[in-house]
Amino acid sequence: MEIAANRMDRGFYQYQDEFEKKALEILRSGWYILGKEVSFFEEEFAAYTGAKYCVGLASGLDALWIAFKLLNIRRGDEVIVQGNTYIASVMGITINGATPVFVEPDPYFGIDVDKIEEKITNKTKAILVVHLYGVASKMDRIVELCKKYNLRLVEDCAQSHGACFHSQMTGTFGDVGCFSFYPSKNLGAFGDAGAVVVNEKQLADDFRMFRNYGSEKRYYNKVVGANSRLDELQAGFLRVRLTHMRELTEEKIRIAKRYSAQISNPVIQLPKVPEGSSCVWHQYVIRCEERDRLIEYLNGKGIHTIIHYPIPPHLAEAYRYLGHQEGFLPITEHLAKTVLSIPLYNGMLDEEQEYVIQAVNKFR
Ligand SMILES: *Cc1c(COP(=O)(O)O)cnc(C)c1O
Repeated sequence: MEIAANRMDRGFYQYQDEFEKKALEILRSGWYILGKEVSFFEEEFAAYTGAKYCVGLASGLDALWIAFKLLNIRRGDEVIVQGNTYIASVMGITINGATPVFVEPDPYFGIDVDKIEEKITNKTKAILVVHLYGVASKMDRIVELCKKYNLRLVEDCAQSHGACFHSQMTGTFGDVGCFSFYPSKNLGAFGDAGAVVVNEKQLADDFRMFRNYGSEKRYYNKVVGANSRLDELQAGFLRVRLTHMRELTEEKIRIAKRYSAQISNPVIQLPKVPEGSSCVWHQYVIRCEERDRLIEYLNGKGIHTIIHYPIPPHLAEAYRYLGHQEGFLPITEHLAKTVLSIPLYNGMLDEEQEYVIQAVNKFR
């Protein structure tokens, strides 16, 4: 059996009729940028998360860098972020000239809350929490730390649509929740797309202005902004998928539960979810000291996997200028050498799940 690391086509065929109907409706409407689909999606996604406002943007990276920009975080400022994240989280900080200050992760792949305070200096302006792989980070103490030190709190929710900490949705704990709707994300578009959720009206207005060349009124530009608009087609597709978010998330949780119950192999460590958090399983990430041999073995059985992520941002060529050497973040670096995401996607067949479980269990 051949099992791809992800099957985004399955996600399309699950609701094919609805997507095709929506596409035709928008194509025939004659209105393609900043119209009713975007406005409705913004209302619906804000309601879904429990935030007051949502502003659609062109990507998750735009959501991050524009968030820091509008929070006035810039050269000379420091932002605390976990070392084990996708590099886009860090680029959101550095595009603004600010410096990322890396913290090691806890056993759930989230930022280790016990190691944050020692990294706070008089230059620290914000904490960026990444709800990696779909696990909601433990937010209570992070929110307290932000209050205590008067720091901004930004959440990278690119992998955590619908994940909650104590029943509150990720993205709503701080100043800005940043979302990506890249096709492979839990709420995926059919192209690039992103959004922010915020509770402050002024900030929502600032995002709306910034994404459209800094203008509220056509040809009246208040600030030097960007072109970062969510388009009508993507917004329309996202509205369709959002109506099915509950069942899509439940499906992923069901597959993950099955993996956790049935994968049993002494050389493989399974992912855990902390008390009080929920996980929406953007990825099902196992760990294995002989990870590279496991990859070869699974490939041989037709099972394709991905490493999220093989090079931690502090060791990326792009961040050589920060001056960090190998050994600077031992836990993060060890994760990069041992993590592996096994296939888990919407529309995954029972026999595919079974095949993955059997293969992983037989690895020696
Ligand atoms: C996907 C992702 C992003 C970037 O989103 P894009 O829409 O691809 O720009 C940022 N952070 C994390 C954690 C991601 O997984």
